[in-house]
Amino acid sequence: MCLIEQVNRQCQHLKLSSLTTALPELLQQAETNELSYLQYTDLLLGHEVKTRNDKRLSANRRKAGFPIEKHLESFDYRHQTTITKRQVNQLLDFDFIDNRHNLIFIGPPGVGKTHLSIGISLKAIDAGYKVLFVNALSLVETLEVAELKGELKKKISSLCKFDLLIIDELGYLPMNKQGNYNLFQLINALYEYRSIILTTNKDFTAWGEFFVDENVAVPIIDRLIHHSKIFMLGGESYRLKQKTNT
Ligand code: ADP
Ligand code: MG
Repeated sequence: MCLIEQVNRQCQHLKLSSLTTALPELLQQAETNELSYLQYTDLLLGHEVKTRNDKRLSANRRKAGFPIEKHLESFDYRHQTTITKRQVNQLLDFDFIDNRHNLIFIGPPGVGKTHLSIGISLKAIDAGYKVLFVNALSLVETLEVAELKGELKKKISSLCKFDLLIIDELGYLPMNKQGNYNLFQLINALYEYRSIILTTNKDFTAWGEFFVDENVAVPIIDRLIHHSKIFMLGGESYRLKQKTNT
């Protein structure tokens, strides 16, 4: 067996899968640049580490379950003036995740709440955090199904595995009593343990409308807003602007 074949086999044996394909090119780079043995070792290992890291990040992006990819780079702060680029950039050191704090975006439809939440979350994934995006209604449904199966605790623990949970569009429809209770169980489990980004079209004063049970609404709100940054977004709907521009 020639040496290159032997090296390939050893790479496969050690599960250094990216090296098997990249080896000829890396060898060529070493030759061309007259790399030292140490530099070449660094090149080889660096390649494998980067490939594994990229794979992990793209798996985490997939697992996050975003309905669509929205990037902060395409967010237009000239249209949305009730939040500044600096305010958003300040969040990107992810102290809020490390300190288990929450972000709450409140505002009418179309003002960029979901766009900002996904944009910030994509950056969080790049920084190594595990993120899950859920729509509030489907979350309530999922919890209900789990509760009926006697698996609410198990479901909540699986949601607590993520560093950051995005609950999008809370408040579009009212929930029943059991829905309130299940959501309370989840918020309670996440409180001071994981971070939440919440988007809602309703101000806290109107939250009673979708939490039918006042006794549950108050402690949920209490836990959500304690240690949270609240952004009240206003302005014109971007969807409407796009409609009127065309
Ligand atoms: P909301 O969640 O507040 O209802 P979205 O974030 O879903 O609004 O925004 C609606 C649409 O408009 C999306 O396609 C989003 O990308 C776009 N959009 C909203 N605000 C902006 C903005 N300031 N710059 C660029 N696109 C925006
Ligand atoms: Mg939205």
